[in-house]
Amino acid sequence: MCNHQNITARVLSVPSAKAPFEKSTIERRDLRSDDILIDIRYCGICHSDIHNAHDDWGHGVFPMVPGHEIAGVVTAVGSDVTKFAVGDRVGVGCFVNSCGECEYCLRGDEQFCTKGVVLVFNAVDYDGNLTYGGYSQKMVVKEKFVVRIPDSLDLDVASPLLCAGITTYSPLKYWNVGPGKKVAVVGMGGLGHLAVQFAHTMGAEVTVLSQTMNKKNEALDFGADHYYATSDSATFTELAGQFDLILNTVSANLDVDAYLSLLRVDGTLVNVGAPAKPDEYNVFSLIMGRRSIAGSNVGGIQETQEMLDFAAEHGIAPMIEVISADQVDEAYERVLRSDVRYRFVIDMSTL
Ligand code: NAP
Ligand code: ZN
Repeated sequence: MCNHQNITARVLSVPSAKAPFEKSTIERRDLRSDDILIDIRYCGICHSDIHNAHDDWGHGVFPMVPGHEIAGVVTAVGSDVTKFAVGDRVGVGCFVNSCGECEYCLRGDEQFCTKGVVLVFNAVDYDGNLTYGGYSQKMVVKEKFVVRIPDSLDLDVASPLLCAGITTYSPLKYWNVGPGKKVAVVGMGGLGHLAVQFAHTMGAEVTVLSQTMNKKNEALDFGADHYYATSDSATFTELAGQFDLILNTVSANLDVDAYLSLLRVDGTLVNVGAPAKPDEYNVFSLIMGRRSIAGSNVGGIQETQEMLDFAAEHGIAPMIEVISADQVDEAYERVLRSDVRYRFVIDMSTL
């Protein structure tokens, strides 16, 4: 018997690095027993989509369909699916497969799978097929890599949580951010504005370090206690030795030594921002305060569900600007100019 279902999906694709988006179609795989079919309603635009579409990181395969902040509704389920039913509101983030057997998968850190986690786009899945992301009307995903969107979160508002949310929540939890901790968030874009909300809700004293004073009022609304412009060199003198944790969400290279000087003894600079070029720093910036430089990569599936539930419970929500499929090129330009408040979300019904 032939099960072929012909799941054709409209997509926005980039034909080559830095080229404008085109509307086209792709075929999604037929549902396997543990797959679900999602009718994608919204997809956020993360700066990582731009790094990939511009081939900043150097392993782009084109044509590419970016998108890893996916929110939609289940329209079909495979025969062995137990977690979801048709009509459920669901989300998909940065990855869609992992080995499920290694130490890291077993403890819920699928993003560090030793076989290699399979990213939701611009990656080769274990079956040899290239993955295509969420700038698309439909998607087939293993149920294990799908999370449930709480009823109180609208799908457009929820979508950025699937990457920007978990990428900031996970390191804040891992480094025990809470009452008594002083946290600085560097860069208040898509990731940064959620980091401020999470760190504040977890009970920390939160400082925003932004390039200019332009975002001050919104930072305070998101729960920041203090706000400084990094373009003012006095900021670095005034804040020297203050922070337990600095979460760097900037997409470009920073003066790492200048930020390390803001850490207390034993403080940690955690990088989630992912610039294309290597950072440089002086090892004495670490030695003289037993400081650490660290990095963090999104978060596991169970932790992503926990983050969504936490956001719903505490009224944490991205500030979004919903755009149509025709506005994505312009949105990319605006993100690159730091002119986004604070996440663009594509309405897939316009595709
Ligand atoms: P975004 O919305 O563009 O935010 C980045 C912010 O950084 C900007 O809004 C701006 O904030 C600041 N900034 C930009 N250019 C700067 C420069 N040259 N110098 C100083 N500050 C600058 O980007 P995003 O979507 O939040 O993503 C941020 C980075 O995280 C990207 O590199 C992305 O690839 C990476 N990322 C990593 C992970 C992970 O798992 N580790 C996950 C998602 C994204 P101000 O206006 O406040 O200065
Ligand atoms: Zn992302």
